Amino acid sequence: MTATLATANVTPTWVQLVELVAAVCFILALKGLSSPKTARNGVLIGSVGALIAVVVTFFAGYEMNNLLWILLAMVVGIAIGWPAARKVKMTAMPQLVALFNGAGGGAAALVALVEYQAVGAEDTLVLTFTVLTVLIGSVAFSGSIVTFLKLQEIMTTRPVVIPAGRIVTIAVAVAAAVLAVALIISPTSLLLIILALVSLVLGVLLVLPVGGADVPIVISLLNAFTGLAVAASGYVLGNVLLLVAGTLVGASGTLLTQEMAKAMGRPLTNTLFGAFKASTALAAGGDADRPVRSSSADDVAIMLAYAQKVIIVPGYGLAVAQAQHTIRELVDLLNERGIEVAYAIHPVAGRMPGHMNVLLAEANVPYDQLKEMEEINPEFSSTDVVLVVGANDVVNPAAKSDPSAPIYGMPILDVSDAAQVVFLKRSMRPGFAGITNELLYDPKTTLLFGDAKDSLTKVVGAVKGL
Ligand code: NDP
Repeated sequence: MTATLATANVTPTWVQLVELVAAVCFILALKGLSSPKTARNGVLIGSVGALIAVVVTFFAGYEMNNLLWILLAMVVGIAIGWPAARKVKMTAMPQLVALFNGAGGGAAALVALVEYQAVGAEDTLVLTFTVLTVLIGSVAFSGSIVTFLKLQEIMTTRPVVIPAGRIVTIAVAVAAAVLAVALIISPTSLLLIILALVSLVLGVLLVLPVGGADVPIVISLLNAFTGLAVAASGYVLGNVLLLVAGTLVGASGTLLTQEMAKAMGRPLTNTLFGAFKASTALAAGGDADRPVRSSSADDVAIMLAYAQKVIIVPGYGLAVAQAQHTIRELVDLLNERGIEVAYAIHPVAGRMPGHMNVLLAEANVPYDQLKEMEEINPEFSSTDVVLVVGANDVVNPAAKSDPSAPIYGMPILDVSDAAQVVFLKRSMRPGFAGITNELLYDPKTTLLFGDAKDSLTKVVGAVKGL
């Protein structure tokens, strides 16, 4: 389909230079994505790099069979991907990322399969990378599809534990490893296809028992897998650019996975295999009979307007309600009254890394008002009112006090240290992890029920009238 390693050595210098420009674009894109201020530019630079990479491939003089099929596949891909990315709601972005990630892993596996059928493998190293691409790419594909189904709530978001799940998973992983070694010793097309099928099953088995608050870590891990599969396919095809891009995705995905596991306060093995032992630990959320203190928008407005220090805790519900502009309006009003206000940003608030930063940036909230968890936690004890807007798991004290809770060990925002806590939510339903939040029943907590945007609009009106 494209050049092999041998022919890559004679790639024209101008092509190598253009590919270098594309590779530099990918690196600059990652740099840009490291801060909300520069993220938009980062995305643009990365997209330009990808465009350069695709275009140069057509003019580089690589031997290209099936040109019509390639162009047709590109048209179909654009026809699906472009409108999907434009129309997707911010809250559904992780599902889209999971799908795109799965497509990347699946594509790498398919390319390796097809390349092997077409030209075989010229030496043991290329064969090893072909086998790795099929294995890792297939795991990333099926795992990402299960993640998509969980995030889209087409299937349960809770851990799914099959009987003897751990043994079955280990057995399938061992089978995949044995097949991989057998293939490297004595390759056949049939065995490679069987490896792809076994790896697909392995991807499903690995992701099924992950649930609740751990899903973001798995998205990031699968992203790293896809990067590795793409890098390995780059070696198979002798395409340096695929090698560079795949390695960047693999490395950044691995770092992100580590960072997120750290933010969730648990080792990665616990995330992947924790549910095998803790299958019954999930408590049902919502406790209809227990009394809570609910209040009106006017009362909340008075609480806020006469406070000296307020902290806002945004969460997934802020994104659902699209209330980012209204919360900013409220904070501006409170600032005008001389009240000190900051936003407390938990690393896994919302449904994707950086979700709250992106959302609040949309409303032009000044970056210096956004405080990371470590920075803001000591501030809660000197705070009069904490306004929790559509957040739940990230402030749930069960993470500290209940070893059976699926979020146990995850560092949380210590909102219970403040004098008063106000939750804006629509009902007593739990958050993503599906567990009761005792803080909702705490005497210092007030609930303002309703859609966050409606509630905030009323509170803004009431503050203006004071
Ligand atoms: P949660 O999912 O814990 O809670 C969201 C809260 O928002 C719920 O209490 C819900 O209550 C409320 N809500 C929903 N819609 C509205 C609305 N329109 N108006 C007002 N309230 C609303 O969110 P958190 O941000 O606290 O925690 C994120 C969770 O998601 C964590 O468990 C995290 O692990 C997980 N996750 C995070 C990802 C990431 O990368 N950041 C990716 C995938 C999962 P009610 O229904 O009663 O309104």
